[in-house]
Amino acid sequence: MRVRILGAGIVGLSVADELLRRGHDVAVVDPSPGSGASYAAAGMLSPAGEAWHGEEELTRLCLSSLALWPDFASRLGVPVHTLGTLLVGVDAGDVQQVERQLAVLDLAGVSYEQLGRRDLLDHEPGLGRVAGGAFLAEDHSVDPRSVVAALLAQVRDTVVEPVETTATADVTVIATGAKLPAPYSSLIRPVRGDVVRVRTQERMERTVRAWVHGEQVYVVPRVDSDEVVIGATSEERDGPLEPTVEGVWRLLDSARRVVPALDRAGVVEVTSRDRPGTADNLPLVGPTQEPGVVLAAGAYRNGVLLAPLIARLVADHVETGSVEPAVDPRRFRMKEDG
Ligand SMILES: Cc1cc2nc3c(=O)[nH]c(=O)nc-3n(C[C@H](O)[C@H](O)[C@H](O)COP(=O)(O)OP(=O)(O)OC[C@H]3O[C@@H](n4cnc5c(N)ncnc54)[C@H](O)[C@@H]3O)c2cc1C
Repeated sequence: MRVRILGAGIVGLSVADELLRRGHDVAVVDPSPGSGASYAAAGMLSPAGEAWHGEEELTRLCLSSLALWPDFASRLGVPVHTLGTLLVGVDAGDVQQVERQLAVLDLAGVSYEQLGRRDLLDHEPGLGRVAGGAFLAEDHSVDPRSVVAALLAQVRDTVVEPVETTATADVTVIATGAKLPAPYSSLIRPVRGDVVRVRTQERMERTVRAWVHGEQVYVVPRVDSDEVVIGATSEERDGPLEPTVEGVWRLLDSARRVVPALDRAGVVEVTSRDRPGTADNLPLVGPTQEPGVVLAAGAYRNGVLLAPLIARLVADHVETGSVEPAVDPRRFRMKEDG
């Protein structure tokens, strides 16, 4: 098949890679590959840490995609951080939030180890004053920028163009992140996220996801560098892609309470991007009402984690017409919005 893919973020590139591997003729169009949400993402592969009430279907998809990551990463030559994630609460109310999340994991059949303060410190001696939490052994992370670079290296010679040179294709896959072209744009709700990258000499073993007096923050160490990612705000606002003072202050204030040694870290970068959200927080993967037009979009908070699964679902659809009902874009009516 001749497949045209709009968008070279982690999703579009993963789809391109999968289709090329299956022998299809692929062209990717993107004026600025890898510059969207994939550039900001912390890279947590975190079905358990992301699980929440009412999102059981999403947790199921995230777990399926996590199972694809070891092969995906080793084929791309990208290291995966597999030392697990600590979910922690700073005060009694925060520990209640952690316990609510653990109740969701019980329902989903996902295992975890509930821990008191002392055990948490055994896992991560650099933790500050935390009241309780849990160890999520299966929640990993990658550096999304390395993944995008590896995918681009895999597909670049053949396929990536800044502008369309030919529109001839059997199938068009739309993977343009938080901005879909008409008539699909109303299917996406951009959710702004600010994130801070720092560099530290203090070794952190685990990813830490924390509730801090009702605020959520995560601190993600890299497996192969001294970079630590502190994220992320979540706001439904438009305007220029500039991190706000308030957003960055809240992130840093929460992060340094959980990992006090971050006070000595150097700030490397502050970034703001829009997550591609949907009305039901599930992705949009599969056919539209237009013949030959397929969506690979709406991965929201989990696009890094979900990329290999979305790639597989799109390639299966292109080859056999199969559709995963939970993510079928036709569950929503599209508005003609010019
Ligand atoms: C702060 C933050 C932290 C995050 N952390 C995580 C995390 O830890 N784990 C996780 O799994 N997910 C995380 N996410 C979510 C994840 O980043 C996204 O779900 C994912 O990057 C979406 O990938 P994408 O390829 O669909 O979109 P993008 O990465 O946004 O890529 C879209 C691409 O389309 C291109 N484009 C736009 N318009 C057009 C057009 N008309 N024609 C051609 N190309 C076009 C853009 O240039 C861009 O390269 C995070 C997101 C944010 C913002």
